Amino acid sequence: MTVQTRPSVCPHDCPSTCALEVEVLGPARIGAVRGADNPYTAGVICNKVTRYAERIHHPDRLTHPLLRTGPKGSGQFRRIGWDEALDRVVEGFTAVTAEHGSEAAWAYSSAGTMGLVNRDGVFRLRHAMRWSGRKGTICSSIAAAGWMAGCGRISGTDPREMAASDLIVVWGGNPVATQVNVMAHVTRARKERGAKLVVIDPYRTGTAAIADLHLAPRPGTDAALACAVMHCAFRDGLADRAYMARYTADAETLEAHLASRGPDWAATITGLSVAQIETFAGLYNRTARAYLRIGFGFTRGRGGAAAMHAVTCLPAVTGAWRHEGGGALWNNRNLYQWDKSLIEGTALRDPAVRELDMSRIASILTGDPAALEGGPPVHALLVQSGNPAAVCPDSNRVRAGLLREDLFTVVHEQFLTETARHADILLPATMFLEHDDIYQAGGHSHVQIGRKLIEPPGEAMSNHDLVCALARGFGLDHPSFRMSGLELADATLRASGYPGAEALTERRWVDIQVPFERAHFLDGFGHADGRFRFRADWAALGDAEGRLPPLPDHLPLEDAATAERPFRLVAAPARQFLNSTFTETPTALRREGRPTLRIAPEDCARLGITEGEAVRIGNARGEVVLHAQRAPGQQPGTLVAEGVWPADAYAGAACGINVLTSDEPALPAGGAVFHDTAVWLRPEIPSDDFKPLQLA
Ligand code: SF4
Repeated sequence: MTVQTRPSVCPHDCPSTCALEVEVLGPARIGAVRGADNPYTAGVICNKVTRYAERIHHPDRLTHPLLRTGPKGSGQFRRIGWDEALDRVVEGFTAVTAEHGSEAAWAYSSAGTMGLVNRDGVFRLRHAMRWSGRKGTICSSIAAAGWMAGCGRISGTDPREMAASDLIVVWGGNPVATQVNVMAHVTRARKERGAKLVVIDPYRTGTAAIADLHLAPRPGTDAALACAVMHCAFRDGLADRAYMARYTADAETLEAHLASRGPDWAATITGLSVAQIETFAGLYNRTARAYLRIGFGFTRGRGGAAAMHAVTCLPAVTGAWRHEGGGALWNNRNLYQWDKSLIEGTALRDPAVRELDMSRIASILTGDPAALEGGPPVHALLVQSGNPAAVCPDSNRVRAGLLREDLFTVVHEQFLTETARHADILLPATMFLEHDDIYQAGGHSHVQIGRKLIEPPGEAMSNHDLVCALARGFGLDHPSFRMSGLELADATLRASGYPGAEALTERRWVDIQVPFERAHFLDGFGHADGRFRFRADWAALGDAEGRLPPLPDHLPLEDAATAERPFRLVAAPARQFLNSTFTETPTALRREGRPTLRIAPEDCARLGITEGEAVRIGNARGEVVLHAQRAPGQQPGTLVAEGVWPADAYAGAACGINVLTSDEPALPAGGAVFHDTAVWLRPEIPSDDFKPLQLA
């Protein structure tokens, strides 16, 4: 057997966008996958992707178009040909839009692939058809608003600069589980410079477990901690006043505002001790080369934007931006200057057509007038690269919507997911090694191309090819619908000023990292006056009612614990899964074990809960059964459930963790609040008259 090693790029919803080396064993078979010697990937990738053969060659891959034969949601289908499938999709959507108007059709797409051609191409189909748009809030809109409020441009310190850092603060992220190659850069700084690692997270994650210092505030209280750290900087003469005078606005107002927000104040809000806060403040404020690696935890709570803004104020107070290895990074998306007009068909877009908030699919499919923005109910739904029945908030209502008999649902998927089970027409989709695409990275600065390396199983079709086939069915005529995926990639690369597809294939990647001065905002922040804003203009970011605090502050907006629901639930990512992806692979399932609920030892003792015991948590939206795990390192009252497990992995009922989460839109402009849920907790003892267990 001849083994070739071919280059590729990880397409998954992860900021690392790792450069890969893939063993190709035959026309339709791969072997091992390794990290490439890219300056960021540095040969390190997560084990989810090293064993990708298990996923791509999984016997349960969807391989042929299917037509529903049983009741909705039953998962009963029969095989049909592509011609019949496409005809049925076109007829179904045409009938709906003829009766209810074009906005009654909705193309719901998510980040199942991050390839620009295959992720975003469905936009031009919906633009051309005038279907309802999809407001992309679920991944990052909360955190993005918070970063923009201060910095005005979404980019930050090159992660490779961690090698020059003396302190790395991982705040609201768990890279050991979700972005493992960040840890390669952290480890290098620790080994070579003796850099300290601080982790701030409500529970003892894998990253927190190996940190020099772990602070576990109550969920949603990060802004209070950030305020206290800045208070200490001003109090102790460690604020860089020369930097603030040159690069920021409203520093004096900030100092006066923070005078009443010291460690005592923050301790009552965060649940941390004054000593813990002082220790961290001293470490951060006295370290010039302090690197804040801010994670996606900030984009999962009602107060997340305000918290992100508060944290981004830290290096603007201490002047850490001045120094190599200092500053902050959340995401680098604004480094890329894509011209995606061909891929997205931007010229075809009518801004008068409504955009529906993807995080609110529960309310949208169940007919909430506000979520529908006053327009017609959705009667035709095309789901591509997403599994909203499992991943989106308030999943009992998502499923109620998908079960509507007056909803025609088409799902393009790789596996029979919970969403796919609800399809009327189910279409088989390729995986990344089976089609061509181009990629940017949020966590670094490389443009990459991933070429088709193997043939797909059966009749699986790429997202791009499906979009083009449907366009032909609807009689659309736009040049992009006649191009191959590679041609579209090539044209987009060239229009964006990058090497064409063949040249990029040859080079593997293009590093678009900007010079130090730009990356550190020393040539100005992204606002018109070039200054960092301690006073956020939330109205400009969508907070029309002015509910977010202009100056950094704790915002008691969260789903507050009550006597009936005394616990705060964080629904965090699992190491072996990525959203609901990889929940189909046996090794990932075996390593994760079963859905567990991390409970503070004090709560276990008080409530008499033993390790491994089945417990039930719930609220007005639903209930779910998990197994208790005694979890030191988190505060009493905090519960943590890792992973979007398939519904049937939970004991007792066919429902997943997102039955508990709310689809209430976060400020200032929407977003899902997965870490912000108040719940009750009780042992799983069948009884008609149980009393929910309460905190003392
Ligand atoms: S770390 Fe992220 S980008 Fe890298 S291989 Fe794993 S999922 Fe893909």
